[in-house]
Amino acid sequence: MRAKILIAALVHTSPGDEVVVESRSHVLHFEHNGLTALAGCLPIVVTHSRGHLDLDDFDAALENNVPRGPGPRLLWLENTANLAGGTVLSAERTEALCEDAHTRGLVVHLDGARIFNAAVALGVSASRLAAPCDSVTFALSKGLCCPAGSVLCGSERFIAAARGRRKQLGGAMRQSGVLAACGLVALESMVERLVEDHAHAARLATALSELDQITVDLEMVETNIVWFHCADPEWPARCRERGVALSGMCRGICRAVTHHGITDEEIEQALTIMAETL
Ligand SMILES: *Cc1c(COP(=O)(O)O)cnc(C)c1O
Repeated sequence: MRAKILIAALVHTSPGDEVVVESRSHVLHFEHNGLTALAGCLPIVVTHSRGHLDLDDFDAALENNVPRGPGPRLLWLENTANLAGGTVLSAERTEALCEDAHTRGLVVHLDGARIFNAAVALGVSASRLAAPCDSVTFALSKGLCCPAGSVLCGSERFIAAARGRRKQLGGAMRQSGVLAACGLVALESMVERLVEDHAHAARLATALSELDQITVDLEMVETNIVWFHCADPEWPARCRERGVALSGMCRGICRAVTHHGITDEEIEQALTIMAETL
């Protein structure tokens, strides 16, 4: 499924092109460097505390970039920004960045794996967040609960080129209507309820911030993801034994994600278990 973001990069760029991207973007950390290894692009990496470039970062990145040849071709956005805490990129900032990028001759891809979380948190439509971008990917299998699947969108011309790339990568599927049907259910019944996941994440974050060995930056909790720090590296495994699944990353960094099927009571139960196992 992840081939979709590689396909977007392959369609928008040629080997040697540069891609302006925030340093914590999924594409830099979880795709086995496909952007460089397979699309042949050089990332121009910019860091922003909330995980989303602003216009100044973008302009500075382009102005400090010594022309080496092909130059920047693609601006890569991610909404929400997973590694920055599920933070949202506003419609206004998306529009301003896209306008600037287009004026400078770049195209824009939006990695919107969690675009519906962003839309619900911001109270705007996902289509408004996507509209100024040249292409967008979104996941059906995360907050939207589909068993599998993600979607790549763009102009007719872009999609025709993407289909060609999909063939080259061996990514075409047969009988995919079965999955597509699940995807329709996901889109029709799972978007509005994302508010519940966000409320659960906020409750989790606030209560966690009151525990002694835990540090949470509450300002970064805007959707369904809670990143926090725990001083005890063995703790996520103890939580898991008692049925609370947390990702334990390096250096004490943990991630909790809320999702469909978790009740208010279960959030409280999880908090009790988390406190007891500390
Ligand atoms: C999960 C994820 C992807 C990949 O999504 P698939 O549904 O596996 O294609 C891309 N970007 C981000 C930010 C993600 O979290």
